[in-house]
Amino acid sequence: MQHAAVNSAVLTGATASAVSVEVHVSNGLPGFTIVGLPDAAVRESRDRVRAAILSSGLPWPLRRTVVNLAPSGVRKGGAGLDLPIAVGLLVAAGELSPARTEGLSFCGELGLNGSLRHVPGMIALADAAAPLGMVVPLCDVREAALVRGAAVRGAATLGELVAVLRGQANWPTIPRSRGTVHAPDEPNLSDVRGQALGRRAVEVAAAGRHHLLMVGPPGSGKTMLAERLAGLLPPLTPAEALTVTRIHSAAGCAVPDGELLERPPFRAPHHQASIVSLVGGGSWSLRPGEVSLATNGTLFLDELGEFPVAALEALRQPLEEGVIRVSRAGGTVTFPAAFLLVAAMNPCPCGEGVYEGACGCSVAARARYRRRISAPLLDRFDLVVPLSRPDPDELLSDEPGEPSEVVARRVAAARAAGTGHRAGPELTEDAAALLASKLRAGGLSARGLHKVTRVARTVAALAGADVASFAHASEALSLRAGRAVVVS
Ligand SMILES: [Zn+2]
Repeated sequence: MQHAAVNSAVLTGATASAVSVEVHVSNGLPGFTIVGLPDAAVRESRDRVRAAILSSGLPWPLRRTVVNLAPSGVRKGGAGLDLPIAVGLLVAAGELSPARTEGLSFCGELGLNGSLRHVPGMIALADAAAPLGMVVPLCDVREAALVRGAAVRGAATLGELVAVLRGQANWPTIPRSRGTVHAPDEPNLSDVRGQALGRRAVEVAAAGRHHLLMVGPPGSGKTMLAERLAGLLPPLTPAEALTVTRIHSAAGCAVPDGELLERPPFRAPHHQASIVSLVGGGSWSLRPGEVSLATNGTLFLDELGEFPVAALEALRQPLEEGVIRVSRAGGTVTFPAAFLLVAAMNPCPCGEGVYEGACGCSVAARARYRRRISAPLLDRFDLVVPLSRPDPDELLSDEPGEPSEVVARRVAAARAAGTGHRAGPELTEDAAALLASKLRAGGLSARGLHKVTRVARTVAALAGADVASFAHASEALSLRAGRAVVVS
């Protein structure tokens, strides 16, 4: 019997773990078995590996073959185990020297023609790979190299890789970057005419990382404003960029040319999106969901009232803890899920009635509509602003709104000064007295007081003030006035 062991890694959520692919070839009836908790994609590996080996002009063992994936307790998903299985077979069959594969990890999907194909999650896989280095599809080298640098090698085909491992060829040259990848142009706030309150709300939300709910009829610019909020956020720090890129890579979202993503992500799942696509999960490898893809960026939920209650309830954990735990057989996987929540909703079923009696919706219908947003969820929003359709005069004016670049500079300066969650300007006595009077009058809960205080400090930081004054506290109160529309 011949035996080989090859290092690899498998993805679970946004992280990966090391796996050893053990191949035993023995005399007996020809057959091919994979054991050790493989998922369907891994079980189908046999057909891809066989076709790739034969089309590369290499021999397929007509003997009894058992592939054992260790450790046995870890579920193995995806097609990235094709390559280590093929390499293990070739070592066990005496086609490759075990000395040439020792200390290397192999990850890659095989095409039937012997090509090496992209697998998602290269950044995480590279983290879990063996110390000496890893071998991946040539197209994935730059992405894996984000964490492993020069220890990553690549090949375009199985035949090419075998030639290198036999010492007959050098490692192929790694494709060069196609140049700096620029984020697609983000929409600019200068496109928004009028809407002073809405513009101010996205600025304050971006500066203080305050969750924002916009309530208004269709055409009031809720979506336009949300899309422009993303452009006000500062660029990602290197650590944030690696986290964001790792999650996108694990989710199979395109990571442009092996570069780190530089801009905060903006995710806008539709209300008909499945819970799994929202929170993550699904296959055994557990794909990160929208809440994780939005990490260090914005999650925009348009038509908040149309989302299923279960989806809205699932947001509570990420909003409280910045992570989401997805349960599955054999345990729980934790994904990062720390995002700025921006949501928009119509005030009533027909969308027109910002205030009761302003439209034909009955009081009962309005109440039913609003009950979809639970009180605990509503409490998560620091800013709740009512929006109406812009004045026709404003729409017709040629006067562009203040551009995003200018607002983003104020946001960056405010963040540097300390906003919302971090130490920032303290409330003056009369500002504190104003909020205390609202609390006594029942217009604020204790939690609401805490939130409005944080918003007041952000407003002060945006103004470059040392203290949060009465005027700053008043504005903070006006930025939650939309609650009256939603709760009434
Ligand atoms: Zn209505």
